[in-house]
Amino acid sequence: MTRVAIVGVAGRMGRTLVNAVEQEAGATLAGGIVEPGSSLTGADIGELAGVGKRGVKAVDSLEAIVDDFDVLIDFTAPQVTLANLAFCAKHGKRIVIGTTGMNDDQLAQLDSYRDDVGMVFAPNMSVGVNLTLKLLETAAKALGDEGYDIEVIESHHRHKVDSPSGTAIKMGEVVAKSLDRTLKEHGVFERVGQCGPRTDKEIGFATVRAGDIVGEHTVMFATEGERIEITHKASSRMTFAKGAVRAARWVAGKESGRYDMQDVLALK
Ligand code: NAD
Repeated sequence: MTRVAIVGVAGRMGRTLVNAVEQEAGATLAGGIVEPGSSLTGADIGELAGVGKRGVKAVDSLEAIVDDFDVLIDFTAPQVTLANLAFCAKHGKRIVIGTTGMNDDQLAQLDSYRDDVGMVFAPNMSVGVNLTLKLLETAAKALGDEGYDIEVIESHHRHKVDSPSGTAIKMGEVVAKSLDRTLKEHGVFERVGQCGPRTDKEIGFATVRAGDIVGEHTVMFATEGERIEITHKASSRMTFAKGAVRAARWVAGKESGRYDMQDVLALK
């Protein structure tokens, strides 16, 4: 039985993760962490998530539950996640990281822990998105150098703070890698005013932020005469939460290393 603690347990994903752990026979709820000083400290995390009292109280520091859990699931914010990663490395815990929006420095910091802790880090934990990444690789190899323009379009709810989404960037990276391109050189993240026609090799990104959209991603391959669109639509956060719990169970038995959902789902 994998003992799972959830950091950011009062957040949108945190509450969904409590539900997902509840539904997973091989995992048990071992703790929930809220922001330091939060008025929710001491609240029953089952009640917070709407599944009823579970006898597990929210705490506002990891130290308070250090002996209680095996794997931490973290869907919070970059700085918070990096501090938790250091804690897990120090205390021999595993960690599943869903937090997006890390800059290059933060990604380098995260990577520096790869020999010290077992971590699964993925901008999107859904099985469907991870299969979509495979489909994109195939499509990009067949079409990308044959005159097809590639654009990534994503839509999310109005509260999302980073853009483009981590998933959109990952999709762009998969496509770019399949075509020996890089997003640093070929990614176009903004088109405003007289920006001129697109170049052949650029990979464009467009972002929609509106209402309660859980997450939609389309990669378009367009040429004269036809257009192929590969789309994934998430209709509930449960898809990410279930993937994260699956990753927690998987990484519980792994050595130190940086893994992603392709590893968890054996798609490599
Ligand atoms: P949210 O704002 O609803 O939740 C974040 C929670 O973290 C908040 O409750 C906040 O109080 C808490 N928090 C902040 N600092 C903390 C600290 N020091 N200790 C404990 N808790 C702290 O956001 P959300 O919609 O749940 O998304 C969270 C992150 O997960 C974002 O980066 C989002 O992009 C990402 N996300 C990833 C996936 C995926 O599949 N990988 C899916 C959905 C969302």
